[in-house]
Amino acid sequence: MPRAPKPRLNREWHLAHRMPPRAPLDQRIVWHLEHRENCACRPIPLKLLGVLRERGLL
Ligand SMILES: [Zn+2]
Repeated sequence: MPRAPKPRLNREWHLAHRMPPRAPLDQRIVWHLEHRENCACRPIPLKLLGVLRERGLL
């Protein structure tokens, strides 16, 4: 079985999911959860990971 190449950056997803620079925390959380499912260009920031754990979202 040939390994399916998985692009690190999902350009189409990013174009469809722009996040404003000063997005509120809740919006950032939703964005990163969706981002994690669709793209691997960068991990969830540690600060946000802490919040996700507190809220039981991980
Ligand atoms: Zn990405």
